[in-house]
Amino acid sequence: MQIISDPREMQKLCATWRCQTQTLGFVPTMGALHDGHLELCRHARAENDRFAASIFVNPAQFGPKEDLGSYPRPFERDCDLLREAGCDALFAPDTESIYGKADFLHGTWIDVTPFDEMWEGVTRPGHLRGVSTIVAKLFNIVHPNRAYFGEKDFQQLRVVQAMVHDLNFDLEVRPVATLRESSGLARSSRNAYLSSENRQKASVIYRAMQCAIQMAQDGETDVKALGVAMDEVFASEPELHTQYVAIVDAQTLAPMEILDGRPARILVAAHLGSTRLIDNLPI
Ligand code: AMP
Repeated sequence: MQIISDPREMQKLCATWRCQTQTLGFVPTMGALHDGHLELCRHARAENDRFAASIFVNPAQFGPKEDLGSYPRPFERDCDLLREAGCDALFAPDTESIYGKADFLHGTWIDVTPFDEMWEGVTRPGHLRGVSTIVAKLFNIVHPNRAYFGEKDFQQLRVVQAMVHDLNFDLEVRPVATLRESSGLARSSRNAYLSSENRQKASVIYRAMQCAIQMAQDGETDVKALGVAMDEVFASEPELHTQYVAIVDAQTLAPMEILDGRPARILVAAHLGSTRLIDNLPI
């Protein structure tokens, strides 16, 4: 596996593969890799001639009071995992090569409306703009045929899909289902912040969503009633504080009042101590 930090060098390598008509799958990450990331890698490896990943803890998608400084960065271990996953090239740039020197500020930003004004866009101002901008930059560096994104970050996935459509990126966005711990807790790099006791507590998010899904399967269509039932499950874990719990149209992410047959999604964001967790499931 080649490890490349210079954007130009990465661009050249990927261009060489394109000239040889080799297809390229791409998995962008912030590192601290876990089974969820590796599931994306498995798809990228299996479906393409070449597979590249990136590790970049993107400052632009962290708020001033968020965990940019403490975000886990086990780089050597990540490299080993990517090698084992059959990665051909890892792009791991530093902040300066992506956003320039502090005295030459990066001035081009991408806002994908209206997604940036709902859910994560409201609770983490600037976060989605940081995500869409870095993803666009990575796409322009790597030019993949297919890019793999986890459903774990469902709004991020919708933002990337909308951006690719709106800006005519010539690539396919491949969603990958969320990998979970046996308790149901979605795998996340931020789970590293949780004690094993708190991981168990955090699995209430999965149980609450499953409760609503079961009710919907039994015929309940009233979103308010589903919300009340989820609140009751959340009440069993008083240390977990939900930030939003919503049932939305899976396409537009607009709140729904009635489950009417359109694809719908439960979205949850919650705090457990100082750790912020998000999750979602189709309903
Ligand atoms: P991150 O490193 O957190 O930016 O995540 C990189 C990619 O991995 C994103 O597309 C995430 O949605 C995806 N991802 C994170 N956690 C999971 C998971 N548990 N299952 C599947 N994909 C995931």
